[in-house]
Amino acid sequence: MEFAIEAKDLTKRFGDFTAVDNISFAIPKGKIFGFLGPNGSGKSTTIRMLCGVLTPSSGDIKVLGKNAIKERESIRQEIGYMSQKFSLYEDLSVEKNLNFYAEIYGISKEVREQRKKELLMMANLAGKEKKIAGTLSGGWKQRLALGCALIHKPKLLILDEPTAGVDPVSRRQFWAIIHELARQGISFLITTHYMDEAESCDLVGFIYNGKIICDVIPPNDLIESENVKGLEDIFIRYVETMTNEKVRTSFHEMKFLHS
Ligand code: ADP
Ligand code: MG
Repeated sequence: MEFAIEAKDLTKRFGDFTAVDNISFAIPKGKIFGFLGPNGSGKSTTIRMLCGVLTPSSGDIKVLGKNAIKERESIRQEIGYMSQKFSLYEDLSVEKNLNFYAEIYGISKEVREQRKKELLMMANLAGKEKKIAGTLSGGWKQRLALGCALIHKPKLLILDEPTAGVDPVSRRQFWAIIHELARQGISFLITTHYMDEAESCDLVGFIYNGKIICDVIPPNDLIESENVKGLEDIFIRYVETMTNEKVRTSFHEMKFLHS
């Protein structure tokens, strides 16, 4: 089987704090992998190592079959990365943001124009080329950031909480694009706190306090094996088990707290 990502005994320490603690996982090519876990559990740190932005303290990473540490530069050309802050230039127009990323990846002017057209269509941004990125609403910004991350036709997209703070309609539009891109053969690693999004992934994995706490498996298999309604119950259950503390009442039960 060919893998998009293989992490082996991956560890990142900041001083004497271990943010990512000896994790191993492998994601086959062409899959959407939902990387889940509470805030501060080590998702972004793992992602930054996979993208070659951070050097691991120890362990190995292979991205699209290549050693991510030794072949960092060549891998960068094959990965699209959307960081938690979207990394857009807020005072530049939609088009100039795309131009900027095209420039970074050394895309020729002729190819660039065609690519921009395709991406504006995909992101539903056609007609908004001259709009200043900073004035766009959350959903538009997020789709522009996705367009920028796709400009060089990467084979693997790594998206760090791409839908945080985005309305339900925009979230669905965004995920429809993700599934369409996956159908075309692109591999994905995505983090999200929305469990409905995570349930649409091909595979999910949970990280807590820097450790992977379950096998990477399809969400439905996990839901069935844990005998719960959905991934949200599993998320809560994991946190309860790890902290040995009961998480507060469910949202449904909260309605009855005051009556
Ligand atoms: P997540 O993305 O799951 O919310 P992060 O990977 O951002 O988690 O952070 C994991 C832990 O590592 C947190 O406790 C965070 O404060 C810490 N951390 C992240 N980056 C650094 C850094 N550059 N220096 C020190 N600690 C860091
Ligand atoms: Mg994060």
